[in-house]
Amino acid sequence: MGTGLTSKCACGYEAESSVGSSRRMHGKEFFFPHHCKTCSKVVSVDLLAKPVCCSHCGSQEVTSYAAATKLLDSKETLSHLDPKLLNRLGHHVAAQVVDSAFCYRLEKTFVLTNIANDCPRCHEPTLKFAASVFYD
Ligand SMILES: [Zn+2]
Ligand SMILES: [Zn+2]
Repeated sequence: MGTGLTSKCACGYEAESSVGSSRRMHGKEFFFPHHCKTCSKVVSVDLLAKPVCCSHCGSQEVTSYAAATKLLDSKETLSHLDPKLLNRLGHHVAAQVVDSAFCYRLEKTFVLTNIANDCPRCHEPTLKFAASVFYD
């Protein structure tokens, strides 16, 4: 199962990317949005490719948008903190999760949140992702 994503920033930057893979390519490719420093764009990168690189320019100068923060239960008092502060403390809450996908080849769950995603154009942490389409 894959998810098509649109991302938008207050500066006007817009891009499309994807998470996961189609059923046909399941276990063969696993895409996740990355920031390619060479293209200065949001690109989908296949994490099962060797080497892991930008699908447009082949650069390995790509940074994943996967959240480094951990999911916090909404029952926790901390979860009521300002999202940016919570992010600095290393957490996010379920409401901030745009998409979450388990890659069995890498035995890892990749989570995309809407907090602290750097925009490749204005370099502010204001890039927002939204799921636009789900594909099989
Ligand atoms: Zn690139
Ligand atoms: Zn921007």
